[in-house]
Amino acid sequence: MVNKDRLINKFIKYIKIDTQSAPSSNSTPSTAKQWDLANLLVDELKEMGMQNVSIDEHAYVMATLPANVAHKVPVIGFVSHFDTTPDFSGKNVNPQIIEDYDGNDIILNQEKNIILSPDYFEDLAQYKGQTIITTDGTTLLGADDKAGITEIMTAMQYLLDNPQIEHGEIKVCFTPDEEIGRGAHKFDVQKFGAEWAYTMDGSQIGELEYENFNAASAVVKVIGKSVHPGYAKDKMINSLYIAQDFISSLPRLETPEHTEGRQGFFHLSNMKGDVEETELHYIIRDHDRKHFEARKKMILDLGQDLCTQYERDCINIEIKDQYFNMKEKIEPVKHIVDLAEKAMKAVGVKPVLKPIRGGTDGAQLSYKGLPCPNIFAGGHNFHGKYEYVPVESMQKAVEVIVKLAELTSEKYKK
Ligand SMILES: [Zn+2]
Repeated sequence: MVNKDRLINKFIKYIKIDTQSAPSSNSTPSTAKQWDLANLLVDELKEMGMQNVSIDEHAYVMATLPANVAHKVPVIGFVSHFDTTPDFSGKNVNPQIIEDYDGNDIILNQEKNIILSPDYFEDLAQYKGQTIITTDGTTLLGADDKAGITEIMTAMQYLLDNPQIEHGEIKVCFTPDEEIGRGAHKFDVQKFGAEWAYTMDGSQIGELEYENFNAASAVVKVIGKSVHPGYAKDKMINSLYIAQDFISSLPRLETPEHTEGRQGFFHLSNMKGDVEETELHYIIRDHDRKHFEARKKMILDLGQDLCTQYERDCINIEIKDQYFNMKEKIEPVKHIVDLAEKAMKAVGVKPVLKPIRGGTDGAQLSYKGLPCPNIFAGGHNFHGKYEYVPVESMQKAVEVIVKLAELTSEKYKK
């Protein structure tokens, strides 16, 4: 069994280090403060006896746990990110530890009247009796993804302390800048040297994910013609009205607020304009590649139609692919998901497989040649002051990692 206090102490040490990333920066890591945790992890990995501990010029931390069996076992890896979201402050995190949670409201901040309530956050109720770590209502917690880091570090320590557990070679990597979509960008898959890996970056206990959105962005520029309103008859072309036509021609119910599961959408995230020019910013999402391509075409066709209708070249559309569904890359090696499922069941965790309505670093890694499903790290309500993590979920995540190492070795034992 994994020592609870040690786990908590480790987690708190990590979340106290501010590692917020910044999308406005072009460097990697995007913020210098991410080095603080990266360097600490390097020290700790060396101290616990991991091999080939390295940190590159972009702060990617890698290390190896050598195999302790003679037979050939595929090299597997575990990955998590040490940055926190730019959406909410991660400075001066002051966690509260609620032991033996009674199932009632948790007061995060008396003064500001900030309450974490199971009436609103229903998931909370299932953790009655457990130890819950929350914020003080003024910052995020950073369980995303310092819970993942804590779990990987603890699992490696556990395997080192318990050499009777047989395992092949295990790789670990901690990355910067996941929250700004760049965690996989400078990930050296070749150097990492694993056949497949798991990101420990999911939310609640049991989550196991290998499907995510296909994603693109579209910028629709509508060009009008501004003329003095008093003399505008037959001359003015108001781009705002053409933009309105564009917006209302897309299916109104295929939007984030009307879709779930594997349903895709068009999301108008931003618009700005005047008579002369209006810009619409969309994101396009769909799990199904064919539907995804059809959505992109629909946007382009609509632009064409409106140009025809207004008898002028009034719409300019730029579509950019952002990421793709990792399912395409995971399905041929589905056994790596089955193995994770088996590991969860073996330690008493019910696997919850569901498609991610977003992206993950694992998706990008999968397309870079490292198939990489996502496993729960245990936290809830990421990216804000209501973030919390049950310690028992973190303990289970550690057990899942250990079990995965063990089962992989067992599977390839002749
Ligand atoms: Zn994360």
